[in-house]
Amino acid sequence: MQQPFPAPIVRFLNEYHSGGVTEADCRACSSPCCSLGGFAILENVVQIYELYKQGGLHRADYEYESGLGFANFVFKYFDVYKKLVPLEGGEATLMLFHMRSLSQDGNTIAIPTGGDYWETRAQLFELNPWLNRGCVFLSHKVGNWPEDDGDATRHCILHTASSGTHVTAKPVDCVFYTCNKPIEARVPTEEQSANWFRLLATHFPNSLERFEALIRDDPADK
Ligand code: SF4
Ligand code: SF4
Repeated sequence: MQQPFPAPIVRFLNEYHSGGVTEADCRACSSPCCSLGGFAILENVVQIYELYKQGGLHRADYEYESGLGFANFVFKYFDVYKKLVPLEGGEATLMLFHMRSLSQDGNTIAIPTGGDYWETRAQLFELNPWLNRGCVFLSHKVGNWPEDDGDATRHCILHTASSGTHVTAKPVDCVFYTCNKPIEARVPTEEQSANWFRLLATHFPNSLERFEALIRDDPADK
């Protein structure tokens, strides 16, 4: 059974989304937000992997590599980062799993490590726009990023009817993301971002330890 988002997260999301685009707006949109997507938390990644194991991950123009164990699946389709989140009386480590983009020839693009993930990614794709054909969990590739091809049949294959209210395979930071009006991103203030990370670190604690345990107990690829 899927776990509903904790009440403080529901309140925060409702407030942040207030006055933004509707689900119908997003359905009628070509999803340009998914070429520079958000991040998943461990709870999402575990569900994405379950979906993969059950043969439930499908897209029209790419085949997910078969037989991967959890660790190899995660490190193939995500850039994995640790984020230190200040909390009352100390700080917590929150694991962030950034979905990779696909290239035109069907490779997943790893963002070089060492600096700030978001800055490095923005710079890489700004200098090499031909590289980015959108998130690996889109139903099909983006034609000519960053141009909008207006193809509204493109959608997130992880989205479900309960993704806005429950912890599902859809990455939480993609649930958080919204637009003021279609294709006009709503940019969170620093305070909103800090609150978002604080809520995630508080309500989904010990993600580093849990991730390390999953990797340690991971059977080899099948
Ligand atoms: S760009 Fe904005 S309107 Fe379009 S799918 Fe993404 S969130 Fe929805
Ligand atoms: S996981 Fe889904 S919603 Fe998030 S960026 Fe990828 S395709 Fe878009």
